[in-house]
Amino acid sequence: MSFGYVTLKTRVSQLFIAKTSIFVSAMAGSLALAGLRCFMNRKEAISLLARRDLGTLSLEKRESLLLDWWSIDPDDPQYASLPDPLRRMLAHSDQPDDPTSALYNPLLQLALEYSYIGVVNNYLSTQLALPGKEVTVEGDVGDMEVCPCCRYRSLETGASYDICGVCFWEDDGTTELHRHSGPNHQTLSDAQRNFRHLGAVTEASRQYVLADGKNRYALMIP
Ligand SMILES: [Zn+2]
Repeated sequence: MSFGYVTLKTRVSQLFIAKTSIFVSAMAGSLALAGLRCFMNRKEAISLLARRDLGTLSLEKRESLLLDWWSIDPDDPQYASLPDPLRRMLAHSDQPDDPTSALYNPLLQLALEYSYIGVVNNYLSTQLALPGKEVTVEGDVGDMEVCPCCRYRSLETGASYDICGVCFWEDDGTTELHRHSGPNHQTLSDAQRNFRHLGAVTEASRQYVLADGKNRYALMIP
């Protein structure tokens, strides 16, 4: 018995709305029925993973993401995809009234999908894989900037004061190794040494780096 690609995707999409434990069993069930390796485009894979993550968000993380995304620009192309009631809330409230409300889930879904920008297909494939069942994610990862400190392609734009999720370097445009970087309170050379020894640019920032950051992004080989 086998299912076509679209049918399998639809089945998986419906099942992934549930939480992580159900996510795993549902995926296993679908793939077992399909009895084949699953190919998935990148957009669909990210959507599924964001739904999985949404089901496991802590209240603290929900609040934090909602506050970060509450000011989403109405000109943002993703804004149009949000349901009308949610768009009205965004237009008329300064902040979410009740972060636990499922009404906010479409905005959280956008935020979580955003967290996978630039993440390599191999990582997405691994996240979707199940014992004995392979998922191959395909599609263009897009252009990402190389972090001056850790050399992973983790930054959406360069020299924009974005913080690298792999090493926690704030990209202020510094490229000279021995020049002091104000936002980072150290030189790039010192930060690189700390990253090698500590896994982050400082001891204090170790708690903020992504535990699987090195697997998420491509490493720029000199
Ligand atoms: Zn970095």
